[in-house]
Amino acid sequence: MYNEIDLDRIDLSAEIPSVEPERQYYFMRCIRDFVRKEEQKLGRKLTACVVTFGCQMNARDSEKLIGILQKTGYELSEDENSDLVLYKTCTVRDNANQKVYGRLGVLNGYKKKNPNMRVVLCGCMTQEEKVVQKLRESYSFVDLVFGTHNLYCFAELLYKMYGNKEMVVDIRKEADRIVEELPVKRKYPFKSGINIMFGCNNFCSYCIVPYVRGRERSRESEDIINEIKGLVKDGVVEIMLLGQNVNSYGKNLENGITFAQLLKKVDAIDGLKRIRFMTSHPKDLSDDLIEAIASSTKICRHLHLPLQSGSDRILKEMNRHYTRQQYLELAQKIRERIPDIAITTDIIVGFPGETPEDVDQTIDMIKKVRYDNAFTFIYSPRTGTPAAAMQQVSEEQVHEQFDRVLKCVQETARESIARYEGQIMEALAEEQNQGENSSKVLKELGASDGEVLLTGRLSNNTIVHFPGREEQIGTLIPVELLQCHGFYYIGRTVN
Ligand code: SAM
Ligand code: SF4
Repeated sequence: MYNEIDLDRIDLSAEIPSVEPERQYYFMRCIRDFVRKEEQKLGRKLTACVVTFGCQMNARDSEKLIGILQKTGYELSEDENSDLVLYKTCTVRDNANQKVYGRLGVLNGYKKKNPNMRVVLCGCMTQEEKVVQKLRESYSFVDLVFGTHNLYCFAELLYKMYGNKEMVVDIRKEADRIVEELPVKRKYPFKSGINIMFGCNNFCSYCIVPYVRGRERSRESEDIINEIKGLVKDGVVEIMLLGQNVNSYGKNLENGITFAQLLKKVDAIDGLKRIRFMTSHPKDLSDDLIEAIASSTKICRHLHLPLQSGSDRILKEMNRHYTRQQYLELAQKIRERIPDIAITTDIIVGFPGETPEDVDQTIDMIKKVRYDNAFTFIYSPRTGTPAAAMQQVSEEQVHEQFDRVLKCVQETARESIARYEGQIMEALAEEQNQGENSSKVLKELGASDGEVLLTGRLSNNTIVHFPGREEQIGTLIPVELLQCHGFYYIGRTVN
């Protein structure tokens, strides 16, 4: 829990505070009064819908935006035909941008029927100049556009938006500060993401993240620890430490703390049961980190270690700073020290100049490392990145090679995951499985009356479905892994 400021105690006749987060609470109070007035006028609640595109970082950002909307009195809805619709955008690949443009067209239709509706766009996509230009030219019905560096100003920007007929645009080139203590509404009461750092300094040649999320900035370890302690008090048992490259955590901090040292501090927090983190860049993964994972009973047995390519030539062009041999040695070292760890990865197919022989090398690495899962992406040129100016591979070749990689990933991951069959492992029950097959599965497993099909996550990040009671959601339960179905298990609880 953060130190929330009570909006009723804010004096609107006083001068607008210049310090944060007090300034934002002042604007939250203004918005809350506006929302109440609107509700009286309309005779109903004002609704808000937040749609998140992209990664875990975006999901966490959305929890912060939703926290502010809830604090100011909006009723949250899943329906995009709401009084306020906010898109938290992603721009890592172009298809994410295209999805947003497509859905904006639908929102325009809703807005014509409800002129009071407001449309807000924020996040990575809006940090691109050409996107803002396109929005101004072709999507002028959008009311507010802001970027990644001023998320903390959301309340102030909403206030500005309601006082303006024209589109309000506030995009900053760099972050000026990290503002703590703003409201957050978690999606799950029992687990939470925690930002430990923002931005990235790596400049992989295909990647737009350093341009849209700015330079790497780590949060002070005391702030992180206090936030986690508050979350644990509030019922959280599992946390995921988030950063584009968590292994370089602390580099800009004066106390010189490393990620392994931070993990040890987090590990010592009473009441916290599970610790996850992502993402690890292979070039910065230290022996201390391997030791910290091996010696902990709380750090989950899962490491996401993006390979991107198995060809040394392509890795060099990608500016990744490791070779296939170095990656293999690292994976071996991790497996020797932590034999029950699951390793997952990201792979890009179709990077400029990639030949079928380069892809052979990637496939060879997939077979050697034996990933538990791999996310495979078709390379998408991003304006302003060095790779976008290189000679591109034909679409036909990309699709052919992508299919080969995907087939190999699916086969090896199936085999890897199946190795747990028959074992008993702890699962964190996350939700009730509402799938159409759930009653059939319950019947086959001889579930008793009152039991539902629960979906849980093992320490190694594999999903397991098993019969249990709804009130077990949010708790850790020993489960016997009965049948492996590719990427998930069917299991039963063990007393
Ligand atoms: N910081 C993380 C890392 O280095 O692993 C990942 C961040 S990025 C949001 C997630 C993944 O998207 C990357 O690992 C990469 O595989 C993929 N990606 C990034 N840029 C891409 C591009 N231009 N085209 C296709 N995939 C891309
Ligand atoms: Fe992008 Fe590379 Fe940074 Fe990951 S490490 S966010 S892939 S530049």
